[in-house]
Amino acid sequence: MNAGSSAGKSDGMWPYHPDLLSRPVPRYTSFPTAAEFTASIGAADQVAALAGATGDISLYVHIPFCEQICWYCGCNTGRSNKVQRLANYLDSLGREIGLLAQHLPSGARIRRVAFGGGSPNAIAPFDFVRLVDTLTVRLPLHDPVLSIELDPRNLGPDWKAVLRCVGVTRASLGVQTFAPHLQAAIGRVQPDHDIARGTELLRAAGITSLNYDLMYGLPGQTETDLAETLARSVALGADRIALFGYAHVPHLIPRQGQIDASDLPGQEARFRMAGLGYRQLGEAGYQPVGFDHFALPGDALAQAAMSGRLRRNFQGFTEDQADVLVGLGASAISQFPGLIAQNEKNAGRYRMLLSQDLLPTSGGVRRSARDRALGAIIEGLLCHHEAELDAETMAAMLTALTPFGERGLVETRGSTLVIRPEGLPYARTVAALFDPYRQHSARRFSSAV
Ligand code: SF4
Repeated sequence: MNAGSSAGKSDGMWPYHPDLLSRPVPRYTSFPTAAEFTASIGAADQVAALAGATGDISLYVHIPFCEQICWYCGCNTGRSNKVQRLANYLDSLGREIGLLAQHLPSGARIRRVAFGGGSPNAIAPFDFVRLVDTLTVRLPLHDPVLSIELDPRNLGPDWKAVLRCVGVTRASLGVQTFAPHLQAAIGRVQPDHDIARGTELLRAAGITSLNYDLMYGLPGQTETDLAETLARSVALGADRIALFGYAHVPHLIPRQGQIDASDLPGQEARFRMAGLGYRQLGEAGYQPVGFDHFALPGDALAQAAMSGRLRRNFQGFTEDQADVLVGLGASAISQFPGLIAQNEKNAGRYRMLLSQDLLPTSGGVRRSARDRALGAIIEGLLCHHEAELDAETMAAMLTALTPFGERGLVETRGSTLVIRPEGLPYARTVAALFDPYRQHSARRFSSAV
């Protein structure tokens, strides 16, 4: 295998092997991934899975609206410029909550509710209160941890009282970069003072765990740009930082066609930026979490990483231990031990199904025992950088793992496959070796760094 001219060159900490990063790989927020979803999964499957959902479960509520649409965004979201469209959607969401209440067994206890999107603050603060009221009245909420994704550009002062009064304690701000020239390049202009003011508002609202989403690999981005954004995020006191590599895939996300791709950093520059983030945030006192998250040691996510309780689900790395995550809203995904099911993505069709009191499940995948075993290996590699392999799997994977082992990126300790610290940027690539669905087309996935 040709490792390229700079193969093995060290980034000061991580050795760079471009041949091992050349294949696009999934982010593995589920296994099987969404690429394996088919239309064979429907409402009856969701009903059957819900019937077994006893004990602690989590909810995800999707609000697919934003006041402005960012050019890079791959989320299922649209403009929130029509009041009636928002009202209709919230009405449908209320109906879906009612249907969920009918199908959840009496032993279910909802311990977490995450509001995401889109931007949940695209709806009016008063509507958000009504939504939380509906959840509280209709569903078995048991003192849940409430979290919310927010757009700092539209975080008006009313949100302070609303978040405080409903008891939201965790929030995530879409920051991406503080550099004005990069904000212009990706169609998301938000001055520093918007983010600082939003942060202040959220702290005053009682948010104790605040995440910033940041990106590297942006068009025209330099390492200095990234270092300054990281330093500003640390100075503003983010408890968690998710540092994502921008994936430019306009063939899958047409709105990315607005971004000038001529100045995108190459793979080696991206690799160096990922390393820079890892080093700089480590020096600032953040604990690495998984392969692209960082958290202050007192934060629950860092504690989960340090104690081996870190998990991965559709929301990314999480300390949530629940095996059932129920998604509400258009395109929302539910995860059960034996099933992954997705709601209708199109908001119009989603509303139409609910107007007939039908659960809007419109696709997904069943998880076989083998899928679950492989999923546990992939989750272990991404969350803890190690996984137990049975003798048969170990033997079957030896050849595929050899290029990683020979370069000191992975090693075996008895029956445990371990990703060494030098191998961290290759974690997704190593995980993908265990994905039997991934051995052909990988076109729809993103760069491994
Ligand atoms: S605010 Fe967030 S969800 Fe909305 S378009 Fe921008 S990146 Fe996407």
